[in-house]
Amino acid sequence: MSDTATRHNSLLAAAEALQPETIALRRAIHEEPELGLDTPKTLAKVKAALAGLPLTLKEGSSCTGMIAVLDGAKPGRTVLLRGDMDALPMPEDAPIDFRSKVQGAMHACGHDAHTSMLVSAAKILCARRNDIAGRIVFMFQPGEEGHHGAKFMLDDGLLDDPKIDAAFALHITPNLPVGVVTAKAGAMMASADEFEVIVRGRGGHSSMPHLAVDPMPVACEIVTALQAFVTRRIDAFDPCVVTVSTINGGTAQNVIGETVRMTGTLRAISEQTRTKVHEGIRRVAENVARAHECKAEVEIKPGFPVTINDARGVALVEAAVKGELGEKAFMRAPAPVMGAEDFSYVLQRVPGAMSFIGVCPEGADFRLACPCHSNKMELNEAAMAHGVAVHCATAELFLRDGLPAG
Ligand SMILES: [Zn+2]
Ligand SMILES: [Zn+2]
Repeated sequence: MSDTATRHNSLLAAAEALQPETIALRRAIHEEPELGLDTPKTLAKVKAALAGLPLTLKEGSSCTGMIAVLDGAKPGRTVLLRGDMDALPMPEDAPIDFRSKVQGAMHACGHDAHTSMLVSAAKILCARRNDIAGRIVFMFQPGEEGHHGAKFMLDDGLLDDPKIDAAFALHITPNLPVGVVTAKAGAMMASADEFEVIVRGRGGHSSMPHLAVDPMPVACEIVTALQAFVTRRIDAFDPCVVTVSTINGGTAQNVIGETVRMTGTLRAISEQTRTKVHEGIRRVAENVARAHECKAEVEIKPGFPVTINDARGVALVEAAVKGELGEKAFMRAPAPVMGAEDFSYVLQRVPGAMSFIGVCPEGADFRLACPCHSNKMELNEAAMAHGVAVHCATAELFLRDGLPAG
């Protein structure tokens, strides 16, 4: 057995040995989910688990985000590993005995597992401190589910000192077999923006529409015109999704209402198309409305940017995963995921990669397993040892070799 294989095997073995702690922490966080940017109980659990380790903890002022910095015995590069801590505002219906005890909150995106895996990775890497040249920054962030937690931590300056050279995050998915890690270079996840269109006409009697200005058919025309805009004006090889998700107007069958309000989401995988669609939604809505003597007010609320993986970062994760879990454990993702991630803000600053790791529940078909954000989402805790080992192997490989040549 080579030196490399011995080192890697011992990482997985160390992660397996820590499984009781990894599982206990995950379940404790799972039972007490917290939402948004304020996750003090979860952070307290993280701090308690890290107590006594040779880590420097730093917190910001705008949210409960914290970094824990491990200084290796020798100087070198700095690598960041991310774990998110927040849950989703939804009731839990998973058939498990450590179900959420907080009404209307559930760890349905696996952030409980992410936090716990990152804590265990910190424990293992601290134990190997004497062999580490460089620094490892463990980023515990709240507010991933639409609250821009990563951006708040960046704005707090938490990622300025020490300066980060590369950053990596791992997200669980029940829709991949246990032990499989996947990522791709370039766009890994979409941007996610919200939009609102208010069409204003003039109210009247339903029997005499010519004396009113009915915004209802105009709103319907805007919905279909937006779909024509997407298919006719956007490059099929740089896809986007525009979904009008709600449409509300009118109060009674014999009344022409004055306004119709529509809301929707826009997903894109390039900033170029994202900008083009922002302009397009505005142009289409305003001009369709104008054609019918209505007025459209368009508001676009920018969400997370596109998550762009650095090709070298993906190559590094691939090497780390294959070295750690075997050749078959890494799969290049064939396409981006249209969901969004605020790790995108970190990857705008430093090269790195966001990867997914399979946690399909035992006995389930990974293609049919309840996905992230399902009220019945479950994960196979055995896979957490793989996640811990992947974190450790990625950090060690980067500190040893840096990013591979592109
Ligand atoms: Zn999520
Ligand atoms: Zn998530």
